[in-house]
Amino acid sequence: MTDSCIFCKIISTAASTGSAERLNTSISEEAKASIVYRDEQVTAFRDIHPVAPTHILIVPNKHIESVGTLEVEDEQLMGHLFTVARKLAEEDGISKGGYRLVTNTGPNGGQTLFHLHVHLIGGQRMRYPMG
Ligand code: AMP
Ligand code: ZN
Repeated sequence: MTDSCIFCKIISTAASTGSAERLNTSISEEAKASIVYRDEQVTAFRDIHPVAPTHILIVPNKHIESVGTLEVEDEQLMGHLFTVARKLAEEDGISKGGYRLVTNTGPNGGQTLFHLHVHLIGGQRMRYPMG
């Protein structure tokens, strides 16, 4: 955990409350999040500025800055992260229609929050091409 990372704060708050519900108001505003899933390796919560009916961020509990700093030892973790994405897509009812998984990496990739995350976006037809 890094003190300045908002996603680390959300992860540690979710772990300490053990809650899968919206975190309560006693928690600092910035660390509030709508947690939809957590386990020992990953936490998932709804994006604060959704771009589609389903917009969930799936993040490793371990602070990894971006894909640019991934190590070989993180391969199992990243595989798990995608399996969780698949389960959450099923739970949100968007599996049949399909969805988009996005991981922005670095400034040119559009990354604004430097704790690696996968966006699970769906519930509507996505625009294409990207970029
Ligand atoms: P990216 O631009 O790929 O780094 O994505 C960062 C995402 O984090 C954006 O979609 C933001 O809307 C989202 N975000 C920022 N702060 C929070 C927060 N406190 N809770 C949930 N989502 C957030
Ligand atoms: Zn972090």
